[in-house]
Amino acid sequence: MPYATQPTASHFINGAYVEDKNGTPIPVIYPATGEVIATVHAATPAIVDQAIAAAKSAQAAWAAMSGTERGRILRRAADMIRERNHDLSVLETYDTGKPYQETIAVDATSGADALEYFGGLAGSLTGEHIQLGENWVYTRREALGVCVGIGAWNYPTQIACWKGAPALACGNAMIFKPSETTPLCALKVAEILHEAGLPAGIYNVIQGMGEVGNALVTDPRVNKVSLTGSVPTGRKVYAAAAAGIKHVTMELGGKSPMIVFEDADIENAVSGAILGNFYSSGQVCSNGTRVFVHKDIKEAFLARLTERLGNAVIGDPMDPETSFGPMVSERQMTLVQGYIEKGQAEGARLVTGGKRVDREGFYLEPTVFADVTDDMVIAREEIFGPVMAVLDFTDEADVMARANDTEFGLAAGVFTRDLARAHRVAAGFEAGTCFINSYNDAPVEAPFGGSKNSGVGRENSKAAIEHYSQLKSVFVRMDDVEAPF
Ligand code: NAD
Repeated sequence: MPYATQPTASHFINGAYVEDKNGTPIPVIYPATGEVIATVHAATPAIVDQAIAAAKSAQAAWAAMSGTERGRILRRAADMIRERNHDLSVLETYDTGKPYQETIAVDATSGADALEYFGGLAGSLTGEHIQLGENWVYTRREALGVCVGIGAWNYPTQIACWKGAPALACGNAMIFKPSETTPLCALKVAEILHEAGLPAGIYNVIQGMGEVGNALVTDPRVNKVSLTGSVPTGRKVYAAAAAGIKHVTMELGGKSPMIVFEDADIENAVSGAILGNFYSSGQVCSNGTRVFVHKDIKEAFLARLTERLGNAVIGDPMDPETSFGPMVSERQMTLVQGYIEKGQAEGARLVTGGKRVDREGFYLEPTVFADVTDDMVIAREEIFGPVMAVLDFTDEADVMARANDTEFGLAAGVFTRDLARAHRVAAGFEAGTCFINSYNDAPVEAPFGGSKNSGVGRENSKAAIEHYSQLKSVFVRMDDVEAPF
């Protein structure tokens, strides 16, 4: 292994690496080869306690610093992430198998964007003054306390930053538990934050499976839980947090629609469909995996899509030319293969792909099904892999009803040259994050999140501040207090 992939220790607590080998070993597997590239240990109850205690005792002093001081540290960390983008991207590629071509452009840099954005915002977080005649109320925007972040495996660095940056900007302390599938990158985020001057105990990383996540969520010292994961996990974590009346942000799964009208720019629509189905080998929560294409342009769309997919460079993720890499794990690959078999069994037309790529590692071909109908399993369930379902439509009202007929509401997109229709359709989507003539853009300045079963709360943008702080109202009386007796 040319790169040091074994971390100094499994956990980062109170400003330092910490090890406890009594925890269950978690092998870290490079998806492109199946090789074990590191081993970490799940947090024991003692480690969980140590992390929560460190966060709890450090938080008040952090919250007492001015927002500008806190923000300066976050912005310094953002600069350091950008300076080290190459090394961080290589590590992210080892952790996830995603092509370096993607990780160098998106992963660490979008984490840096969040640290820079919330670092910039920290100094301007205020309450308000509410005049009531001579008396008045002022509000104080206060931190929630100890926040827990729990990550999925598809964007380990980004998720660690998207949760950490607003939490820390608001004066909270965080304990982040990465996915057990991709435990390496969050440790680097912690290391960099501390090098940038973060006080010990404010951003801690501990490893483990669901039970470690659950131990964090149920601890009475924890005030807020932000999860990125699947809907079934979201249900469990939300319920556990509810028992303690904790604040939550839930970033969950999706089965998002993308509607391509007959007047769309086909080349752009094909680009959007490629980005929304095959980037990160399809392992993106907001993907537009139900692609509704107007009957009049369906064959032209499929022909151009197939041609463009032929240009995908499938290979070694470390090669900067590679544009399509493996699935994150053998388990995920097997799950997705099961869906491909279901699609064929249900009578969908396999236009391209469908097979494992003939090489080591967990590679599946980019796969497109056409003639998919709404009731098929591949049109209803989140696959989380490189499988696109193309469905036909002719009528706008009909396609809108079908697009919204899902338990999920994460994202949705529309391709059309008709501006009035574009905005009407966007308004009609039952989804939190929508796109017009584009797909899967996620700038830090815009709220990101889902409706319906896809989640509650928003990440990024000023909206995230509402989810990492609370208001205290202080009534100030200038005249005398009137009492009835
Ligand atoms: P997952 O639900 O299996 O696991 C997510 C995290 O939750 C992991 O860290 C896991 O260890 C932890 N966890 C599991 N059970 C838990 C419990 N009982 N208590 C506390 N923590 C627990 O998801 P995954 O397979 O890692 O990721 C894929 C899923 O994540 C997909 O459904 C995808 O759509 C979703 N996702 C959503 C977003 C978003 O922003 N909306 C982004 C990325 C991924």
